[in-house]
Amino acid sequence: MRSVEPEVFLVARPQLDYGAIAAYLREVGGESWLERLDRGELDNDAQNLAELAGRLCYRSWEPGLNPNVVRVRTDQEKYLQNILASAHGSVLEHVSFSFVLHNVSRVFTHEVVRHRPGTAVSQESLRFVRLDEIPFWFPDWAREDPELMKRAAALLGELEAFQLWMADHFGLDEGGVPFHEKKHKTSFMRRFAPEGVATGLVWTANIRTLRHTIEARTDPGAEEEIRLVFGKIGEIMRAEAPALFGDYEVRDGAWVPGWRKV
Ligand SMILES: Cc1cc2nc3c(=O)[nH]c(=O)nc-3n(C[C@H](O)[C@H](O)[C@H](O)COP(=O)(O)OP(=O)(O)OC[C@H]3O[C@@H](n4cnc5c(N)ncnc54)[C@H](O)[C@@H]3O)c2cc1C
Repeated sequence: MRSVEPEVFLVARPQLDYGAIAAYLREVGGESWLERLDRGELDNDAQNLAELAGRLCYRSWEPGLNPNVVRVRTDQEKYLQNILASAHGSVLEHVSFSFVLHNVSRVFTHEVVRHRPGTAVSQESLRFVRLDEIPFWFPDWAREDPELMKRAAALLGELEAFQLWMADHFGLDEGGVPFHEKKHKTSFMRRFAPEGVATGLVWTANIRTLRHTIEARTDPGAEEEIRLVFGKIGEIMRAEAPALFGDYEVRDGAWVPGWRKV
């Protein structure tokens, strides 16, 4: 049995093509937004994409382009706060981030896939990937209980030994075993792995979804592993896009947003 920790790696974030944006803005008379870019006032691609999508909606690059708009906010933080406050959350759907969630259990993955809109999931296949050990996360309170740890290690050790025995019994490493047969048996063998087995997935979510899931999954009523992972995701997102995650207050690990369900 290998003791592991759930980990979060942010592996992809938005990158804007400012040449294309400039060409578009010249077309619609929104050059003043370009000047803000040149002055270095807009240095966060994720936030810029949300702002761009919002301004396109009202043609609010500068006053007068839309005769109904006589003044515009030029401070990005205030602009995005207004998006959150007015629940104009669809503009946040353009801004996606991809995470590798490593050493998370199948308890975790069952729960995270319940969040559907705005997500993409690629999960390690335990039909293809044969288990030869049972990596496992123990929360601190469990680690501090020697009798529990002794019994858990013995049980997991037995399950690992059974995996190895089955692989040998089915002759999976003998020459000439067709891959479909390996897959068939590997899928049978995974049934003897506990839900706590550590595995992984790539999880992509847009900012609207991230705001909702960070709140829901750090709630005190949520499961402890998912609370841990979404607390980490919350910290990452607050650093990545402070104007879109700066309204959260963290109370005993619970991320409570200033604006809900944007
Ligand atoms: C503390 C906790 C305990 C839970 N316990 C259980 C449990 O015991 N059993 C169980 O089965 N599940 C349980 N869940 C999962 C829960 O029921 C949801 O399936 C999961 O949290 C996904 O969240 P969501 O419904 O907000 O949907 P998401 O997929 O995250 O969607 C975001 C939002 O989009 C809207 N939306 C999404 N899909 C639809 C739709 N089809 N129609 C209309 N609006 C939609 C809703 O406003 C929704 O909140 C639990 C979740 C939590 C946080």
